Amino acid sequence: MLKGADFVTITGKTDTGVILMSIISRLKRHKAYSNYVIMSKFFGIMGVKPIHIILPVFLSFIAASFDGISLGLLVPLVKGVVSNNFYFIKEAAGLKYIVKFFPGVLLNTDSPNKNAFLFLIGLVLLFVVLKNALNYITSVLSAYWHGRFGRNIYLYVFERFLTFGKMFFDRTSEGYLIMIMNYSEYTMKVLRTFENSVNQIFTLAIYFTVMLMISWKLTIVTLIVFPILHYLLKAIVSRLYSIAQLTNASMIALQRNVFNILSCIPLVKVYSKEDEMKANFRNINEELRKLNLRSDKVGDLINPIQEIVVTLALLFMLAIVALLFAEGKPAEISVFVVFFYAAKRALPMFNIFNIIKTDFAQAKPPLRELYKVFDDTDKFVVAQGPETFKELQSGIELKGLNFSYVKGRRVLNDVNLYMEKGKVTALVGPSGAGKTTIVNLIVRFYDCPPGSIMVDNIDIRNFTLKSLRREMALVSQEALLLNDTLRNNITFGLDRKITDEELIDVSKKARLYDFILQLPAGFDTEVGDRGVKLSGGEKQRVAIARALLKKSEILILDEATSSLDTKTEQLIQAAIDEAIKGKTTIVIAHRLSTVKHADKIIVIEDGRIAEQGSLNELLKKEGRFYRYWEDQKFF
Ligand code: ATP
Repeated sequence: MLKGADFVTITGKTDTGVILMSIISRLKRHKAYSNYVIMSKFFGIMGVKPIHIILPVFLSFIAASFDGISLGLLVPLVKGVVSNNFYFIKEAAGLKYIVKFFPGVLLNTDSPNKNAFLFLIGLVLLFVVLKNALNYITSVLSAYWHGRFGRNIYLYVFERFLTFGKMFFDRTSEGYLIMIMNYSEYTMKVLRTFENSVNQIFTLAIYFTVMLMISWKLTIVTLIVFPILHYLLKAIVSRLYSIAQLTNASMIALQRNVFNILSCIPLVKVYSKEDEMKANFRNINEELRKLNLRSDKVGDLINPIQEIVVTLALLFMLAIVALLFAEGKPAEISVFVVFFYAAKRALPMFNIFNIIKTDFAQAKPPLRELYKVFDDTDKFVVAQGPETFKELQSGIELKGLNFSYVKGRRVLNDVNLYMEKGKVTALVGPSGAGKTTIVNLIVRFYDCPPGSIMVDNIDIRNFTLKSLRREMALVSQEALLLNDTLRNNITFGLDRKITDEELIDVSKKARLYDFILQLPAGFDTEVGDRGVKLSGGEKQRVAIARALLKKSEILILDEATSSLDTKTEQLIQAAIDEAIKGKTTIVIAHRLSTVKHADKIIVIEDGRIAEQGSLNELLKKEGRFYRYWEDQKFF
């Protein structure tokens, strides 16, 4: 680690340079800097440009000025009413310029006072209307921009999710992911707080200017409220932050719990675990309720404390006014009414700094959680190269492939095998041996060590994921269906238009057509969440139809027909055999009868290759495969 002195020696810079560097590095380590870095990253993603801040700030400033002017106009108004004389407005600072434009106000009428009174009322109203009109324009403008910022951050978070590797999703609960999406809302909350704060700070500045103009001494006295309020509310803000952290953890637990239960309803029901689940949920929900109550109880202290401190300050000032101006003219004293009015409105605005802190304190834990989406740590993003995969030339080779899902537990051990182009390779072996893991690595759901999977002698990691996957069709063990129609599920992911004839043809091949004909809505039947309205076999047939329609170069069937009855399986097998002609196919099957036509059979045991060869070779060998074959003979 370089120290300050080393730095001077190496760079030859002066002490001042070192001091400056150390100040900068200290500032960078400060909490405020890391908050700034986080927020600027968020604002960048949301598409917040300087104009989006400057324009509302500018409009707020003008609106606050109008507010100040209308407030300032109350001084001559009250003064004139109390003394029943408005002639002084001809000389009044600022006002005299306006009066100059309307000389008739104080001239040639029977009742100039009444005229001046109405004139001042009109002016006050005008500025109040102008202020509100500007505030309205600012609000509409902000609403328009906020809509776009909100859309941008949602989109970004969603797009980021899509770049993460499958391992990330294996390890992360769905509930958590949905919650993270919802956390995007907090960025808008911070932005709104920021905009409101700017507005309030301007208004505060303008009010203080008016107060200073009335009495600078009293204005200074009011300033004592600021540190008092600040210190009283500081403890509250830090309490709110720690409660927000606990609330965040509880929310995560609650979401996880809900998703866990909802996705396993049959399990919960069949084991009659409803009461236990309810109790579990009730506990977390109750904890959340208590935390929210604690947060409200602490947060609700802000207003009373503020009100009491402000009232005390006003009473204190009233006492000072009474002492100083006991013998003063009523007109002078009346001006202080305006001062108190301004002070009463301005003093609570001091709290804006605490509101900023409170809002940030509550938004910080969710935003820190959301921020994790931005970096690639633990996202298991699968590495890809620049090359476009067009067509398989010779084959796919696994070279000393090792793989672990979790550190310390090897699932694949030195796997070496070759899958020739245009041939059918079958992976067989006991459950948990690592067969699915092999195809998951070929489809690139998970990253493999460099050089361990070669496609035509090129490392698979050199190809773009998109080009590789375009040439691969996968029917996975668990048929994946979207909550959509049968038509959309079968044609999912195709970048060409499918004719009705093609759809019917592929449905016939997948032995799905007769079933679809019976449905009132036919291909437009909704299949429900994850295809819940279909049987296991129907779901598999939809997945097979989808894969056949893709017409990819490489077809991977992982227990694709395991849920079908023997007759349907035989019929589909014929369609599959027809479809895979000339294609490179990888088949995983427990029912060995389905792999007897494979060109090569690989027996995987405990993450290692135990045997490989053609059906005849393996049977002749009377080794591991022979024993599995014999075991299944009578089924
Ligand atoms: P089956 O025939 O039952 O489908 P398989 O041979 O396809 O089994 P794999 O699914 O490849 O086996 O699993 C191999 C090992 O890896 C198993 O022990 C399994 O527990 C483990 N495994 C699989 N997926 C994951 C995962 N996402 N995270 C951690 N471990 C996993």
